[in-house]
Amino acid sequence: MSVNKAIFDHETRGWVDLIPRRVAKQNLSSDLKTKWLVVGAGFTGLSCARRLAELNPQDKVVIVDAREIGQNASGRNSGYAVAHSHFSGLFKESQLSQYERVDRINQAGLNSLRSLIVDNNIDCDFSDSGIYHTAADNNSSKECDHFIDYLAKRKINHTPLSRVQLEEHLGTKWYKKGVKVENGALVQPAKLVFALADKLPKNVTLYENTPVLKMSKGRVNVLVVPNATITAEKVIMACNYESLAHGQPKQRAVGVTLSGSITRVLSKDELVSLGSQPLWGVLSLHSGGATVRLTSDGRISIRNTAEYNNQTLLTDYQLLKRQQIHRQAFDNRFPQLVHVPFEHLYSGVEGVSANKTNIFEKLSDNLFYAGCYNGSGITKGTAFGMSMAEFACDQKSELLTDCLETAKASWLPPKPFLDIGAWYTTKQRFKGVGKDR
Ligand SMILES: Cc1cc2nc3c(=O)[nH]c(=O)nc-3n(C[C@H](O)[C@H](O)[C@H](O)COP(=O)(O)OP(=O)(O)OC[C@H]3O[C@@H](n4cnc5c(N)ncnc54)[C@H](O)[C@@H]3O)c2cc1C
Repeated sequence: MSVNKAIFDHETRGWVDLIPRRVAKQNLSSDLKTKWLVVGAGFTGLSCARRLAELNPQDKVVIVDAREIGQNASGRNSGYAVAHSHFSGLFKESQLSQYERVDRINQAGLNSLRSLIVDNNIDCDFSDSGIYHTAADNNSSKECDHFIDYLAKRKINHTPLSRVQLEEHLGTKWYKKGVKVENGALVQPAKLVFALADKLPKNVTLYENTPVLKMSKGRVNVLVVPNATITAEKVIMACNYESLAHGQPKQRAVGVTLSGSITRVLSKDELVSLGSQPLWGVLSLHSGGATVRLTSDGRISIRNTAEYNNQTLLTDYQLLKRQQIHRQAFDNRFPQLVHVPFEHLYSGVEGVSANKTNIFEKLSDNLFYAGCYNGSGITKGTAFGMSMAEFACDQKSELLTDCLETAKASWLPPKPFLDIGAWYTTKQRFKGVGKDR
């Protein structure tokens, strides 16, 4: 029996502040038996539960989450639903099949989300208008050249942009150069994840505020939540970096804490100063750089810190400190808007692995794990969730074949070495962010 020592920190900050409050579904208060149990209701778990329900219309599927919907990475991310991953460095012919495989997974996730949004009439500010990748410093400019070369070699539709063109599009002189990848979407993450949870198929039951505290593995899995026990024939863990103590993936993913701020709604004149595009999303070509968006309701959001914080959200004090970094980056980019206050401030924790891969694994005949997307899990998590359902049902699909080829995440040492290693690795990964911060 494994005991979960995670602290499921709750707070309602960030994108959820911008939308009407959602009433959480019930927590589980009496014992139940189920064939299918999904643990974790972010993009991965929700997608997995949906696919399980489609494949097994006669079965009941149960999904539990320790928190309320949206109080996880899925509700707190920056909303870039990427179709094409950015692999840093020079294009390598020998890696072509790897590039293609990863993008097929991204695309499958994007297609699934797009269909769900259209079919269910989901209002989540979905914009299929592509994603900017920009360079603010010399190293990132080199990276921009590599990426443009990569996109050209792979015949991915893209538009290289000079400093002047970027200023015309985005209203900032900050970037030296950039490229717009035309395939990719932006979403309001909290709106999307709320709707995905509220529009689950009828044979799925969701319990929120239901942390799994213990699990014993066997022919059937027995999971203990605060007021009940769940007996499940098959369990899919979609817990990102959190998992049960002694659960094998625990040592392979670690939670890194990111933070960002969102302005008030800009006035018409302020919006005019931001160039020609009605909304946009910028990803940095420095892996530790800022992500900056002009949202469809006319706000700017900026996310530019990442650190190891013992896998927890930032405290109010820490957040206020980080906001000074957000502010500096905002003022650097938009000197015409220095008077515009931030209205929202938030942090979020994301799973990363030491070798930057994801986790897609069958841990035993009736226990599966999908998660850890290193900051890019909207489309990948959706695809991994679907595909994990297929895997658990002994189905075959091209997507499953692609997911199964995911390199194994390397082992991480237990605490306290984990903390030291994670702190150091995160520092290294974000070293030299410089102007891109
Ligand atoms: C600030 C930030 C910005 C990001 N920006 C982007 C972006 O722009 N684009 C992008 O693609 N990705 C982005 N990401 C990453 C992306 O959000 C994640 O990869 C993705 O949401 C992971 O989804 P998930 O369902 O696997 O995990 P999560 O959303 O973390 O969900 C896992 C769930 O499991 C639950 N859980 C854990 N343990 C238990 C337990 N024992 N019992 C019950 N429930 C449990 C948790 O409560 C949680 O709700 C960002 C992440 C952050 C934090």
